[in-house]
Amino acid sequence: MSRFGVKEGGEARKPLPYITNYSQGFWEGTKAGELRIQKCNACSHKQWIPKAACEECGSIDLSWIKSGGKGKVYSYSIIRHVVMNSMAFEKEIPYALALIDLDDGVRVVGQVVECKPEDVKIGMEVEAFFEDIGGASIFKFRPRR
Ligand SMILES: [Zn+2]
Repeated sequence: MSRFGVKEGGEARKPLPYITNYSQGFWEGTKAGELRIQKCNACSHKQWIPKAACEECGSIDLSWIKSGGKGKVYSYSIIRHVVMNSMAFEKEIPYALALIDLDDGVRVVGQVVECKPEDVKIGMEVEAFFEDIGGASIFKFRPRR
């Protein structure tokens, strides 16, 4: 199966995540229902997205820690047009794509669903959940219950 938009049974498929050596632990986490962030064992810096080295000190001695998955919307944009794999994503537009400040002290990017995009607000409390897209699990956010 191609990573990009192979149609199966008339359905356009979403691209699968591009998994690298240093992001593999993250994607194993999403399959296990965990949002994982990297913590540097040298300086304790926490970071997302997964990187090969600490963005603060350059150490490659990194560990995975499980995020609580809860946070607040820092900013967001409402996506109304799709430019890639439009058939796979057109059912989802419009949707809110947000910067989320996790309670763990790391900012991540994610889609906010289970509410109208117009109802997403800066400061809104959200929680992560996971969706199996066949071959990988991705994370999204929804209003905290
Ligand atoms: Zn470091």
